[in-house]
Amino acid sequence: MTEAFLNQIRQFIVEEIIPLEAKFLHDWTATAHALEAKRDKIRALGLWGLHLPTALGGMGLSLVEFGQLSEVLATSPLGHYAFNAQAPDIGNTELLHQFGTKYQQENFLHPLAEGKIRSCFAMTEPEFAGSNPINMATTAVLEGDEYVVNGHKWYTSSADGATFAIVMAITNPDNPPHQRASMLIVPNATKGFQIVRNISVMGEAGSGWMSHAEVRFDNCRIPKENLIGEAGKGFALAQHRLGPGRIHHCMRWVGISERALDMTIRYALKRELNIGEPLANQQVIQHWIAESRANINAARLMVLDTAKKIDANGAAATRNEISAIKFFVPKVMLEVLDRALQVHGGLGMSDDTILAFWYRHERASRIYDGADEVHKTALAKHILKSYQ
Ligand SMILES: Cc1cc2nc3c(=O)[nH]c(=O)nc-3n(C[C@H](O)[C@H](O)[C@H](O)COP(=O)(O)OP(=O)(O)OC[C@H]3O[C@@H](n4cnc5c(N)ncnc54)[C@H](O)[C@@H]3O)c2cc1C
Repeated sequence: MTEAFLNQIRQFIVEEIIPLEAKFLHDWTATAHALEAKRDKIRALGLWGLHLPTALGGMGLSLVEFGQLSEVLATSPLGHYAFNAQAPDIGNTELLHQFGTKYQQENFLHPLAEGKIRSCFAMTEPEFAGSNPINMATTAVLEGDEYVVNGHKWYTSSADGATFAIVMAITNPDNPPHQRASMLIVPNATKGFQIVRNISVMGEAGSGWMSHAEVRFDNCRIPKENLIGEAGKGFALAQHRLGPGRIHHCMRWVGISERALDMTIRYALKRELNIGEPLANQQVIQHWIAESRANINAARLMVLDTAKKIDANGAAATRNEISAIKFFVPKVMLEVLDRALQVHGGLGMSDDTILAFWYRHERASRIYDGADEVHKTALAKHILKSYQ
């Protein structure tokens, strides 16, 4: 991926997307409308679906290349959405591209890749610890040519306005624990699919793509053709979804950190404690800038190194590195955001900049896709085992 190409994307984000942030913080529906016009512009510039495999009209990027692109897109919370590379759709796109049948690809993958529809991913249940997802109560029972889905999920991100959910449900209760569940496509319009609410997260329930729903499946009947892969292979599929997914998240967090540091530096140079005495003259601020710079550089190199190893050897062989970045990068980002907020003082606490939004919503980075503690334990156990 050339620097000139990344600069083109960078410029688009700065000129076309960042100006929408003020609206976005107060009104998702209006922002989504404005973003459609930007998406058309991206299509016209030939920049649509860059992240997709070549078979779907994309550039067939390696994970390292996608990581570099993702960092640039992440400098605005709207960047990935504008380029149709947003979670959870990007993970579902990858999954359906690799494992979907022709029917599933035509009906769900292609409209998703074209940005005509959105999707969501429903695995976590309020009644069970998501950190050990083999425990779940949602079931999908085969009756003739249909699966009947019953269950209760929450934190189904972006379910509001989505066309379908990929649902993890028990299909083979008598199998060993990791082979009991399957992934199934449940269209949101299916009778019995109910969005109970958009959960208020850090004070905001949000809407549309910017929301996390509690959902119920009450005797939802779907064609048996909606089963992805083989019955009982849901967790194996989830593993495929998670390796690259963690690179996506981590490079997004590097991009957020980079913008927060940029804002810190600009504000420290501009804000004067006395006439002619900018905040940047204070040594404590200088140290924060230096620490943020060093930590972001370290985080980026760790993630790109992990992406390179996944590209070469696959995610299973890279699990230690994946665990390491999953707890290391959020820590870096949250520290950088905290310093940025502190430097901005009262302005940082307000929603007049994007910092407070990130400070609220990115705290979840230490919880989803494996809580810090889970990844630290997994990494330490592998290290200890290698000494025995
Ligand atoms: C903003 C957001 C978006 C999300 N989006 C989705 C989505 O789209 N689809 C979906 O299915 N789910 C989603 N989730 C759910 C997410 O995957 C779960 O929250 C996560 O897996 C943790 O599960 P839990 O919340 O049940 O916490 P629990 O598993 O109950 O864990 C609670 C806490 O216990 C600690 N803990 C857990 N395991 C260990 C351990 N082994 N050792 C030590 N301490 C431990 C950790 O501190 C953890 O935070 C989302 C969550 C959030 C916050």
